[in-house]
Amino acid sequence: MSTELLSRPAPNTAVFVPELVYFEPDAMNYTKGKMIYEWAKQQGLEIHMTTSHNQIRDLPGDTELEKYRIAKRTLVVGIRKTLKFDTSKPSAEYAIPIATGCMGHCHYCYLQTTLGAKPYIRVYVNIDDILGAAQKYIDERVPEITRFEAACTSDPVGLEHISGSLKQLIEFMGQQEHGRLRFVTKYHHVEPLLDAKHNKHTRFRFSVNADYVIKNFEPGTSKFHERIEAAGKVAKAGYPLGFIIAPIIWHEGWEEGYATLLERLHQELPTEATIDLTFEMIQHRFTRTAKNVIEKRYPKTKLEMDEEKRKYKWGRWGQGKYVYPDEQANALREFITEQIFDKFPQAKIEYFT
Ligand code: SF4
Repeated sequence: MSTELLSRPAPNTAVFVPELVYFEPDAMNYTKGKMIYEWAKQQGLEIHMTTSHNQIRDLPGDTELEKYRIAKRTLVVGIRKTLKFDTSKPSAEYAIPIATGCMGHCHYCYLQTTLGAKPYIRVYVNIDDILGAAQKYIDERVPEITRFEAACTSDPVGLEHISGSLKQLIEFMGQQEHGRLRFVTKYHHVEPLLDAKHNKHTRFRFSVNADYVIKNFEPGTSKFHERIEAAGKVAKAGYPLGFIIAPIIWHEGWEEGYATLLERLHQELPTEATIDLTFEMIQHRFTRTAKNVIEKRYPKTKLEMDEEKRKYKWGRWGQGKYVYPDEQANALREFITEQIFDKFPQAKIEYFT
């Protein structure tokens, strides 16, 4: 291999382009539905009509694994019928649904169990109905502030070039005296959101990690340096910023990995952004059900899920989960907390769990 090839930087993570696109018929009655249809046509994608996403039974693929992989590259454009929002405690009052499913292949992702047999990506075109419902939730609680989380069931930044919904949501919340928005992403495609009139009512959070974790367990998402650079751009656009370090994984060299992460963030962020900065920390955990699914879908994963090496934590709603034993969990928490306060003394650590 020539030295030129060896020194060439790896290409940037491209925006997501699905292979198959399904439209529910009502979607075409909405401007957003028509726009996505035109986009899909321009991209030369295979387009199908379907009466409902529930009818998509025969995605191509011979094995379950192939079907799963294809589903992750399938986009369904439809209507959000249920306008009753789920709660999203403790970080927000409600989950606001603008999309479901994600094109990323993070081995540990909880969507694998929560979305069950329907891992395809759905975007909702009736954004005015969704914003109308949000308005009602806000009005009901005045003078309290109502917070909405937009990334409970998807990664909305990774779909923004297709739907444009996140910018609408940000600008809607920008005008709300009593409404606030938050979301988290593993994608660096933030350009369409940089000029949004956010009025500082949206907390833009990045899910970040040691490079080892991103490289080994988060295929299909943006790279370490891409996320950090994107965070710098978002900070310069004046958004309140936050980081979720999750899942924190015990691996060889973890101290160096997490120290480098905080160091790089420190280099990248302008000082103004460090005043109102939040961190959330979540150690890796798994349930038995999740472990079974992960082993089927990512059979070669290096994700350590040995119950013997973990502590069992009883769950409030039934099935418990396996977390790190106290000694390891405390070491992770203490080390990363120190790194955060060393680099960002004014930051707020919201929780470690
Ligand atoms: S980016 Fe987030 S939602 Fe998407 S697969 Fe990874 S963990 Fe799941």
